[in-house]
Amino acid sequence: MRILPALALVLAFPQLTLAWTQLHNNFPSSPTSCDNSSNDECVSWPHNAKGQSITVYVHLSPALSTAPGENLATDTTNSAAQWNGVSANNPFLVAASSGTSVSVSMLQLPSGCDWGETIDYSSSSNVHVIASANVYFNTDVIWNHLFGYSCGAADSRNVATHELGHVNALGHTYIDAVMKSGGENYWAPQTNDVQGLQSIYGAP
Ligand SMILES: [Zn+2]
Repeated sequence: MRILPALALVLAFPQLTLAWTQLHNNFPSSPTSCDNSSNDECVSWPHNAKGQSITVYVHLSPALSTAPGENLATDTTNSAAQWNGVSANNPFLVAASSGTSVSVSMLQLPSGCDWGETIDYSSSSNVHVIASANVYFNTDVIWNHLFGYSCGAADSRNVATHELGHVNALGHTYIDAVMKSGGENYWAPQTNDVQGLQSIYGAP
């Protein structure tokens, strides 16, 4: 599923250059700046000139409740609350059964070591604006609430928060944070995660 074009952006924080990127999955081996080329498009959810938050409706598949281990629907809901609580004008994520633009479900991902993936689709009318996103939890993984990862087991809270960070248009960062690639060490967004969202959407 890592086949769609990467949408990468890096803001030029004076001391934090390349600290985080804005993209959907298919992340390269090292952070790169988005330049609005077809392969490195800078994207975000629609937001007005004042950077006010919009609401993004998230559909949680019933299968999430029957995943082996923890209830991924509950974990995703709690992770949405984590992102909703940061001091930035990022989209407000609300669980909904209809009118949804984000779908969260289970899928057997190509690699057993791939815990979750997020795939965004930009609208055709404005390629820089995200219109929808899909989040997948790997059905091959036993989900738990114990920190630590293997190919077949992972902490569902941390992975859920990481994937919803992608939903918010955040890419990966090399700084220790939720969005650090391959090392979802946190359930709650960290300073670098918040800086990324403030840079995309503005601060309250
Ligand atoms: Zn990721």
